[in-house]
Amino acid sequence: MNITRTNLLDLTPAESESALRAFAESHGVPAYRGSQAARHLWGAAPAAAFEDMTDLPKEFRALLAEHFEIPRLALATEQESTDGTRKFLFTMHDGQAIETVAIPDGDRMTFCVSSQAGCALKCSFCATGAMGFARNLAPHEIAGQVRELAMLNPPLFATNIVFMGMGEPLMNWEAVDKTLTILNDPKGFEIGARHITVSTVGWLPGIEALAARKEQFRLAISVHAPTDGLRATLMPVNTKFPLADVIDAAAAFDRRVTFEYVMLGGVNDTPAIANELAMLARRCKAFVNLIPLHPGGSMGFVPTERQAIGAFARQLRVHGVEVAIRKSRGIDIAAACGQLRVERLERRRPVAAD
Ligand code: SAH
Repeated sequence: MNITRTNLLDLTPAESESALRAFAESHGVPAYRGSQAARHLWGAAPAAAFEDMTDLPKEFRALLAEHFEIPRLALATEQESTDGTRKFLFTMHDGQAIETVAIPDGDRMTFCVSSQAGCALKCSFCATGAMGFARNLAPHEIAGQVRELAMLNPPLFATNIVFMGMGEPLMNWEAVDKTLTILNDPKGFEIGARHITVSTVGWLPGIEALAARKEQFRLAISVHAPTDGLRATLMPVNTKFPLADVIDAAAAFDRRVTFEYVMLGGVNDTPAIANELAMLARRCKAFVNLIPLHPGGSMGFVPTERQAIGAFARQLRVHGVEVAIRKSRGIDIAAACGQLRVERLERRRPVAAD
């Protein structure tokens, strides 16, 4: 008989545990065995396969393997930067590839996860945008990135998660919604909601959905320009969701909001533009992250000079806006959005460190 096996990693921890308990009972096995199996799905020591759940009776493990699946992502490439940043390329069952970046910083370990294979939005400076959209990732492929890194030897554990890898997370809300639960749940990865940031171009329906969740998940908006005219040239999505509406949604978001602002030399980095950006940030009580343009895949743009980034930051502070200049991490391994996949597909050499 050809049965479809239930993918336990596409379920929230509560759903998978109750499915496993019900399954155990229906096969004459005590329900607690189901809970025991559920403990192997996520957390600090995820099981690679049912047969590795050695605290369960052998026959029950075999039975589980017949009815359920816990799919892996295949690690295709790994690179490590001189600054300790590690970048992983995973391939999925259909051959699609996605990137995950692990960024150590003091006692923090931030994982930058992908939510889609490719991206439909075509932001003009972004390597993922240039490759186009392939498909949405399922929860087991998003949370699976965190799971796979926890299964490395030695394992990598995230203290923070940012949805700043490939894709637009809020265009894949159903899967991201479930993934947020898996990441945050004490029976999942138990990462505090305040340590999980969803980054978006300003996809309004998704911002509302995120705002409706009761946990304190954080929102980052990729602003990149303070006016519709300029923003539309950088981010085509601006014609669908104009900046004013995105700013309204960010101002209505009752938790901390960050503005992401990639510094493009001669494009969006003048003092006048800083003044306009400051007005928007003040309205949203937003923290502004200035991101040096990652070279590689950045199609015709040049980074703003270091001093000019500093001057732009000071101009924002004049208006009382909190601002940080993001450290560029993993430059030597091209660890920006979409760059590893692009590099592999085109077989380009990594960009040299400066
Ligand atoms: N789609 C979401 C999340 C993925 S991109 C979003 O746009 O927010 C994560 C961040 O990386 C975004 O702020 C994006 O604009 C930025 N980014 C893309 N390409 C970049 C590059 N070449 N250099 C620096 N930042 C880049």
